[in-house]
Amino acid sequence: MSHLSDIIRADIRAMSAYQVAALPEGFTKLDAMESPYHPFAHSPQLQAEWAARLAEAPIHLYPNPATSGLQAALRQAFDIPAAAEIALGNGSDELIQLITMLVAKPGAAVLALEPSFVMYRHNAQVYGLDYIGVPLNDDFSMNLPAVLEAIAAHRPALVFVSYPNNPTGVGFSRAQVQAIINAAPGVVVVDEAYGAFSGDSFLPQAGQIENLVLMRTVSKIGFAGIRVGYAAGCAEIINELAKIVPPYNMNQLSLATAKFALEHADAIAATTAKLKAERERMLAQLQQIAAIQAFESEANFITVRVPDADQLFDTLKQNKILIKKLHGAHPLLAQCVRITMGAPGQNDAVLALMRALYEK
Ligand code: PMP
Repeated sequence: MSHLSDIIRADIRAMSAYQVAALPEGFTKLDAMESPYHPFAHSPQLQAEWAARLAEAPIHLYPNPATSGLQAALRQAFDIPAAAEIALGNGSDELIQLITMLVAKPGAAVLALEPSFVMYRHNAQVYGLDYIGVPLNDDFSMNLPAVLEAIAAHRPALVFVSYPNNPTGVGFSRAQVQAIINAAPGVVVVDEAYGAFSGDSFLPQAGQIENLVLMRTVSKIGFAGIRVGYAAGCAEIINELAKIVPPYNMNQLSLATAKFALEHADAIAATTAKLKAERERMLAQLQQIAAIQAFESEANFITVRVPDADQLFDTLKQNKILIKKLHGAHPLLAQCVRITMGAPGQNDAVLALMRALYEK
């Protein structure tokens, strides 16, 4: 047998795996846009009802997302237009991968903004596509002329726009995203992973614009652990996606939990509103600290440029708070960190430590 290193692709051997931080005992995790609240923990009755649903889930049978009722429930909860088809993914990560696979032909290109969600580039590389990264402006706004120029020059088969953008939190204007959809020769994925925290959505256009795929996830609104994402768009794209989805990619427990959650959409909306209020409160407080720059955010996190990102990361870590260090990921993210919104007490702890560091 040949040596494995000769068999496994050299470009994959040169990659590093997606980093998931280990969470030591007693730590507050504000690094990955998870909700600080278990969605049913506030109500023993909800917890009991949820447990009963899980107990009823037919785990001896393969799941069938098509007949599970989840798509219909999503349609109703999020007003997804009747014209749109829906594909379910094991997290929107899986859908990003599958959509990339759908267009992976020699010479095809994927275009995204930089910095943005790292998996757009990663999947392009894994599937052998050219990757065009168009830098944001220094203030993390979109450089639309540069994007349109790159679209004209490279004719990408696939464009990803994170709306609002991770890891910056800064929103783009609707007109900018619309201009990209109009100009792109191929598929445009508007990734609204943080859509619940922003004031705008392209969801009402799903199924009505031929090249638009609208993507959402339940991860940021309290359900990161169940791995449910969805893509909505015209049949012409979504039906092709259905051909390459791995069989049984959605498990019975997740389907049951997601359906149960949607029956209690009010509770989810209340938590989302609470986190948005925390974001506004934190932003106002952080913007009062003269030594740092806190960027406006339409998501459930705030990106901050500080004098020394390592120092802040380490100080918070010593105090059992984990945030995301962005410094080093992209030149525009120099000395930046990203802080996921936690519960008020957790956010206050971050604020107190930052004030102690920067308001001496
Ligand atoms: N899109 C964006 C922009 C994200 O930030 C994330 C999570 N980091 C995802 C998609 C993936 O979300 P999930 O797979 O949990 O649905």
